[in-house]
Amino acid sequence: MSDSNHVDGPDYEALAQEILGFEDVTIHDCLPEGEGLVMVIESNLISPQCPRCGEQAEVIDQTVVELVDTNLGCQFLKIRWFQHQLDCQNAECDQAPWIHQDPRIASPGCPLTTRAVELARDDMRKYSFTPEAIAYRLGCEADTVRRALAHFSDSPSH
Ligand SMILES: [Zn+2]
Repeated sequence: MSDSNHVDGPDYEALAQEILGFEDVTIHDCLPEGEGLVMVIESNLISPQCPRCGEQAEVIDQTVVELVDTNLGCQFLKIRWFQHQLDCQNAECDQAPWIHQDPRIASPGCPLTTRAVELARDDMRKYSFTPEAIAYRLGCEADTVRRALAHFSDSPSH
C-alpha cells in the first residue's frame, strides 16, 4: 500500500491481521482517525451461494458498517467493514437480496465486534467492570456498550 495517510511506526496491519486472524478477510488499510485508528476490512467471498436454493449468488452492491473493536496496542480501534450485498442468480428463486454477514467479526446490528463483546463480558464477569469503564477503555459511549451487551443477551445463539 502506498497511501500517504498510512501509519508509520508499528506495523498495524500485521498486528491487526494477527488479532483479527481470518484468512478470508482482507485488511485494506489501517488509518489514524479521531483519537484512534480505523481498520478497513472486506470479506473475501469465493463462491457465495444463495441460502434458499444453493445457486450461485452475485455481489450487486456494498454497504459499510462501523464497529467499535478492542484496542490495538494503546490505540482505540474501529473497524470499517465493507459488506457485500448479494443476489441469487437463479431467476426461479424468490430470495431477496441480502447482506453477507460474518458473526466471527460482528453479530448483525451489534455496534461492537464479537471480539470486543466477548472481552467486555469477561471483564464484567471477572473484574466487575461497568459498561462505563469498558466504554472509557474502548473510546466509545457507554450506551454503545450497553446496546452491544443487550444485543448479545437477546440473541439465542449466544
Ligand atoms: Zn436462490
